[in-house]
Amino acid sequence: MKDFSKQNIEKINKLLGAKKKIVIIGHNNPDGDSVGGSLGLYNVLIKTGNDVSVIMPSKPNDFLQWLPNQEDIVVFKEQEKLASRLLEDAEIIFCVDFNSSHRVDIAQKNLEEAKAIKFLIDHHPEPETDAEFIFSDTIVSSASELVYEFIKETDLNKFLNKDAATCIFTGIMTDTLNFSVNSSRQETFAIVGELLTYKIDKDFIYDKVYNNYSINRLKLVGYLLYKKMQVVEKHGIALIIFTEEEMARFNFAEGDHEGIVNMPLSVAEIKASIIAVEKDDFVKLSLRSKGEVDVNKLARKYFNGGGHKNAAGGKVFTKISDIEDYIKKSLDEYNF
Ligand code: 5GP
Ligand code: MN
Repeated sequence: MKDFSKQNIEKINKLLGAKKKIVIIGHNNPDGDSVGGSLGLYNVLIKTGNDVSVIMPSKPNDFLQWLPNQEDIVVFKEQEKLASRLLEDAEIIFCVDFNSSHRVDIAQKNLEEAKAIKFLIDHHPEPETDAEFIFSDTIVSSASELVYEFIKETDLNKFLNKDAATCIFTGIMTDTLNFSVNSSRQETFAIVGELLTYKIDKDFIYDKVYNNYSINRLKLVGYLLYKKMQVVEKHGIALIIFTEEEMARFNFAEGDHEGIVNMPLSVAEIKASIIAVEKDDFVKLSLRSKGEVDVNKLARKYFNGGGHKNAAGGKVFTKISDIEDYIKKSLDEYNF
């Protein structure tokens, strides 16, 4: 679902050509794709004379806090009044990297009630949206790749610059786990090639994202893999349960467990990996899988969530002490 017809593009150019109040919003716990895609668009739109803001429901992780102009992000949870007003006053809202309003969590009501013309730029399956302009495609590597296509197809093209390219590349790199998944299309690499023409520093970006962890985080990785990982052999699944007590013990910083869920997939016989993280009144799950194993369906059916075939998430409203049984029962029933 993406309409790059001449007629639609003309409509969009007209909308974005006048002085408009524009808000770009990403999803809760925003990942590199949501932040990179949003800031990619932001770095272009601020050159157009529109009045542009970028909102994230919650704060981006530290490994993203160097992206060009990331300091302009309004975090809804921290500046609720300002963020609410921006959404209310907006004439145009871009939703980047999510396709259902509950994904903005605390900002859901404000987003749903906003009177603005909405654009959706996303790559998740089964959109539930009231957006007038929908650019949704599950074949692309990332929402950031679609942001790039969107910019190229419209008059925004002439404002593309190194800052925007850096953000978009970061989104593509992180959502493909550094080009190891969702990145087999020639078009993705063609776009990366074009981004490099803006003189982005690919190695610097890699270093900022992947070599930016603390000693505590490295020790936490060791602990979770050595002491906490269980292998449910009959399903070929690795399961890690991470409690609040352990977070305190390892001086856990938000985002420290990011990426750990991928690690068990490096074992040949492990087809899918789940990490369950204790939160105040629920357990947050992250799921990853290889090949045809579909964790999106599993997350939708049992974990109040969703995502992509090979990367999904969800929430279960239970105590951390009950989550192991719940997950194992779900796996037995799902018949992995
Ligand atoms: P993560 O495990 O990194 O939080 O999320 C992996 C993928 O699942 C991302 O594409 C994200 O958008 C999606 N996802 C994570 N949590 C949820 C959720 O609660 N609901 C839905 N629908 N998708 C989620
Ligand atoms: Mn994404």
